[in-house]
Amino acid sequence: MLRLQSTSARVFRIHICRGFATSSGPYDTVVIGGGPGGYVAAIKSAQLGLRTACIEKRGSLGGTCLNVGCIPSKAMLNNSHLYHQAKHDMKARGIELSGIDLNLTQMMKAKDTSVTSLTKGVEGLFKKNKVDYIKGAASFTSSNHLSVDLLEGGQIEVEGKNIIIATGSEVTPFPGIEIDEDQIVTSTGALSLKEVPRKMVVIGGGIIGLEMGSVWSRLGSEVTVVEFLPYIGGPGLDEELGKQFQKTLVKQGIKFKTETKVISAEKVDGRVRIQLESAKGGNQETIETDVLLVSIGRRPYTSGLNLEKIGVELDNKGRIIIDDQYNTSAKGVRAIGDVTFGPMLAHKAEEEGIAVSEILATGHGHVNYGVVPSVIYTHPEVAWVGKTEQELKQAGVKYKVGKFPFLANSRAKTNQDTEGSVKFLAEAETDKILGVHIMGPNAGEMIGSAALAMEYGASSEDVARTCHAHPTLSEAFKEAAMAACGSPIHF
Ligand SMILES: Cc1cc2nc3c(=O)[nH]c(=O)nc-3n(C[C@H](O)[C@H](O)[C@H](O)COP(=O)(O)OP(=O)(O)OC[C@H]3O[C@@H](n4cnc5c(N)ncnc54)[C@H](O)[C@@H]3O)c2cc1C
Repeated sequence: MLRLQSTSARVFRIHICRGFATSSGPYDTVVIGGGPGGYVAAIKSAQLGLRTACIEKRGSLGGTCLNVGCIPSKAMLNNSHLYHQAKHDMKARGIELSGIDLNLTQMMKAKDTSVTSLTKGVEGLFKKNKVDYIKGAASFTSSNHLSVDLLEGGQIEVEGKNIIIATGSEVTPFPGIEIDEDQIVTSTGALSLKEVPRKMVVIGGGIIGLEMGSVWSRLGSEVTVVEFLPYIGGPGLDEELGKQFQKTLVKQGIKFKTETKVISAEKVDGRVRIQLESAKGGNQETIETDVLLVSIGRRPYTSGLNLEKIGVELDNKGRIIIDDQYNTSAKGVRAIGDVTFGPMLAHKAEEEGIAVSEILATGHGHVNYGVVPSVIYTHPEVAWVGKTEQELKQAGVKYKVGKFPFLANSRAKTNQDTEGSVKFLAEAETDKILGVHIMGPNAGEMIGSAALAMEYGASSEDVARTCHAHPTLSEAFKEAAMAACGSPIHF
């Protein structure tokens, strides 16, 4: 058992695994938050020889990503896709199935099993790398001291020569709409619904809304996505691909109301009544649904950290302001992941976790923010890295485009999975790859090759001259590169 101490001027180094506290001096690194940013920073810091602790208040490691984000949503996306395939796609492949029923409880269990095995896995990695895992909520008492309210009860003080804030983000609330995580839900509630709603309305056509909308649509809900903007997928998505993507989702049965704003939503007689208005004003409409998913984005989470006490500054969006070494305005305190600038993505947070630890241990570390891929894990998947065509146009950059449809790819045809295409954007003069945009099967895996090529500053010809195995989907990637620097063979 951990022996609890009341907060005092004394400083304790906590050996959670051995279950007692000693006064062996401050940690080199203390990380607040055990999400992908925080746990990776803690492991890397320990690997680089720094005495490290990670404080997490959730009761399990992995943060939003492993507990209520990337992992459970991908479990549901994968299994709902298999269900949908079994129900609608097998006959044409010569597989006769009958009596296909959804066992939602079992599907939820499968999701929970994936989550638990991964969160426990991170705990194992902490032990292996000798990171002290402190279960509790941290709050600054000075720029190198934290008071921690332990989950088991009691309070301790932890001192770090360096403290990294990796407290992540939370769902952005919709003013006036009350979440009950039962009928009016965030992504967290949408990952644990007890039955398939007959109708579901999603407010927000961003990545999370589209992924969760896809899950429930495949399981049988009639899904309508309401989006304020004229397009879906968020601003990073290439416009041309975005339009293609929306058409594909419509074919799958998802309805869209773009350029539409939600005025209010309330529960009436066991249903949710939603008031809509055209984004341009006028044209009001009332719709009803069984479940409403509010998915308008996420905001940085700094609640309870007592940042005012140590003078950590936030910008007007609540993000912790940092410099290029992740320093906040308080000496010795750094910030990474969703709580600060950049895309709210797990792999971006992880890269920052490594970079900040390397900076602490060696003085050097960096992340190439120009090459952070994004993926929408629908079917087909949508993935991109680098600049969009609209961004290049806006910046006045001269560029060439190379495209290749999966309809002309032998493996996609063999798999009867031909929706989508690959698009390369390369600088007109130098042929350097500036962006790659893919909609298609396995786009999320394929985008890794694009990121690797861009990381090495490759030209589209470099990719075009790289031998890709046949028959693979990645040949579409090579052929799009061939199209950018010359001509494809198979289209
Ligand atoms: C439904 C959904 C799907 C997603 N899918 C993807 C995806 O497919 N790919 C992707 O890249 N990203 C995805 N994301 C985003 C991804 O989850 C986040 O970008 C990522 O988790 C951010 O990591 P982080 O370490 O910055 O913060 P978090 O993962 O949010 O972790 C922060 C941790 O800090 C803890 N904490 C906060 N305050 C304190 C405190 N005072 N003391 C102690 N602990 C504290 C919290 O409990 C939390 O566990 C998804 C998000 C959601 C909601």
